Amino acid sequence: MQERPSRRSFLKKAALAGSGVVLGAAGLNELSPKIWPEPIVFEPNQSYWAKSQPPQNPPLAEDLTADVVVLGGGFTGLSSAYFMRTLSPQKRVVLLEAKGCGNGASGRNGAMVLNLTDDRYMQLGPDPAVDKRIYDLTARNIQTLSKLSAITGIDCELETNGALQVLNTSDDVRDAQLYVQAARSAGMPVEFWNKQEVASAIGTGLYEGAFFDPNGGHIHPMKLVQVWKAAAQSAGAEIYENTVVTHIEEGPQNLVHTMNGVSVKAKSLVLATNAFTSRLGYFRNSIVPVHEYVAMTPPLSDQQVAQIGWPRRAPFNDSRTEVIYLGFTRDNRIHIGGGSPSYFFNNGVGDPNESARHYGYLQRELVRLYPALEGVEFEAMWSGIVDWSLNEAPSVGRTGKYNNIFYGLGYSGHGVNLTSVFGRIIADLEAGREQAWKPFPFLNASLDYIPNEPFRWLGAKTGLAWYRLTGT
Ligand SMILES: Cc1cc2nc3c(=O)[nH]c(=O)nc-3n(C[C@H](O)[C@H](O)[C@H](O)COP(=O)(O)OP(=O)(O)OC[C@H]3O[C@@H](n4cnc5c(N)ncnc54)[C@H](O)[C@@H]3O)c2cc1C
Repeated sequence: MQERPSRRSFLKKAALAGSGVVLGAAGLNELSPKIWPEPIVFEPNQSYWAKSQPPQNPPLAEDLTADVVVLGGGFTGLSSAYFMRTLSPQKRVVLLEAKGCGNGASGRNGAMVLNLTDDRYMQLGPDPAVDKRIYDLTARNIQTLSKLSAITGIDCELETNGALQVLNTSDDVRDAQLYVQAARSAGMPVEFWNKQEVASAIGTGLYEGAFFDPNGGHIHPMKLVQVWKAAAQSAGAEIYENTVVTHIEEGPQNLVHTMNGVSVKAKSLVLATNAFTSRLGYFRNSIVPVHEYVAMTPPLSDQQVAQIGWPRRAPFNDSRTEVIYLGFTRDNRIHIGGGSPSYFFNNGVGDPNESARHYGYLQRELVRLYPALEGVEFEAMWSGIVDWSLNEAPSVGRTGKYNNIFYGLGYSGHGVNLTSVFGRIIADLEAGREQAWKPFPFLNASLDYIPNEPFRWLGAKTGLAWYRLTGT
């Protein structure tokens, strides 16, 4: 299938723009991390979901020795801690989170529960049998989320009515039809929906068709954080919040320093810091941390719900490079996210003026899709950082001078489900059980090279401007 413009090709172009300049300035590229060390700062989570953030545990107040130290209290970190304790209950597992659990992408996202990995979503890899194995793995993980929700007694509002990628153009329709045909031959139960089927499912006739995955769904992300936090703690993991890790001293026993002036020593370390990982000096050349924007309406009246007509309530994203994604909550709110993402120099924090522009765009998009929502003001608006890898491929594995640092990242906007698949893999790797994961392409996958600043900024800005200009 020929590759047409997509976020994938945008990122590649952005990298090329950056790398092209690097060729002429290799010295600066090498020196860059010393000239511009990334600031270790964290913006508070202003999302609608944040209202459901679990109560915070006390910060780390004394030096500790553990078997494993996990950095980051999002889905990756919490699920790794849970699976490690489940697998090896004798191990002391300590998790450190800079603010509260769910302060990062896990508590700010677009709530779509998706199968596969982003690089293989609607695009088969070289061996479709591998895609099918990944599909089954991720679909089974959604069942695990449902079971854990029942075990912890925390309803994370998981709805498995499927998920759609709606198609904006006839080229997208053709590609989706070809993909669905090939994916079904490989055994995946995905479907192609025509224009009328889409219109009657989501209430807007603007789309030419859709790719439908019956095993996808929607969730309340912060309630899922609650589930993972409760599961990890009841399995015996110790969680410290408001504990910022400032640097890591690698060794046979890693030493993790915190802003609180205390440290944790542990043989194994898990980097579950997602888009913030480069701030600790790791994977700086693998991830472009881009800010995406999301907004939430108040609960709609019964009349508005009837007017828009979205009976199946399955979430959807569209097929543009500057994708938008929408979901419908249990209490009848609609959230819309996406549009043009932002990149701030040196993985910096957002700019409020830029945010305002994005929310205006999301409002216009919402009314374009659902004219009955004209005049509905958003109740909450927020941004979050996504860890894009160049080809949208994720990676899970081990690294470090002593090969005792474990990581999972590069989810590229596809992590609500995949993070805990990787949490389980991280636990297996830490326990020396690598064999089962060898057939999967994401194990220790090396991610495409992204140059340092200022080239990363230059590349990202050029790529983003190009797509804004061409409107693809
Ligand atoms: C706006 C937005 C929309 C999205 N929409 C979807 C979607 O609809 N579907 C989907 O599947 N995926 C989506 N994603 C992606 C998904 O949310 C992420 O892939 C996933 O949440 C990543 O989880 P994580 O645990 O790896 O990272 P995070 O949730 O970001 O957790 C990392 C944690 O590490 C902590 N941390 C970082 N550095 C340090 C440090 N130095 N010391 C201590 N703690 C530290 C942070 O505070 C943070 O809590 C979206 C993401 C965003 C931002």
